[in-house]
Amino acid sequence: MKQSRMYEGAKTWNPFVGCLFNCIYCKPSFQAQLKRLKQKCSNCYNYVPHLHPERLKRIPSAKIIFVCGDGDISFCPPEYTFKIIERIREHNRRCPHKIYYFQSKDPRYFEQFLDYFPYNVVLLTTLETNRDQGYDKISKAPKPSIRFKRFLRLNYPRKGVTIEPIMDFDLEILLSWMRSIKPEIVYVGYNSRPKQVQLPEPSLRKTLKLINRLGEFTAVQRKYIPRCLPFRGWRLCHIVK
Ligand code: SF4
Repeated sequence: MKQSRMYEGAKTWNPFVGCLFNCIYCKPSFQAQLKRLKQKCSNCYNYVPHLHPERLKRIPSAKIIFVCGDGDISFCPPEYTFKIIERIREHNRRCPHKIYYFQSKDPRYFEQFLDYFPYNVVLLTTLETNRDQGYDKISKAPKPSIRFKRFLRLNYPRKGVTIEPIMDFDLEILLSWMRSIKPEIVYVGYNSRPKQVQLPEPSLRKTLKLINRLGEFTAVQRKYIPRCLPFRGWRLCHIVK
């Protein structure tokens, strides 16, 4: 259990770990952290999807719990995810005010649990962009447009979206996606490891416009927003307001 790098004030709870989507930006961040655990768990070290049932009892003390944040829960056997949900329900009797984030790049996985999630579970997905073209070089996860449709289809009242690490996008399309999803919160941030991984990023001006427009209809939480972005070998500096 540790502070979540994804969500400020949150702690990750990892009764399941691992993912096979192989996003190119994951290796220097999430996966690098787990490389320190070689002695403790070789599956964590290799980011292979696997269970840690001994952690089921140990829900962290934070207000927001990022459930299985070191991986993508869609690789978790459903019967085990039911156990995770059951454990949350049990814990709610003593601590009813926590919020649990379940996040996946394959939101279709959540369909089977919709009737079982308690009131304090928020479902999230990542939409780094609305553009599918070239996405297969970024990740093996379902393409953004497919992910959006699957997430939209979930008949669930509490949703959030992570636009991180942000990649170049079409403003009006991405805004229309967000409006139709009706998220209670949207996280927006750039790739925090630009030296290790270069992504097709939007300009800061464009991202700030997106943030302002999102703020007209939902809560927006800024993540890593740099003051300078690399551009053809030069650094173009912008004032971030
Ligand atoms: S989906 Fe998440 S956990 Fe899986 S490789 Fe991508 S960033 Fe890492």
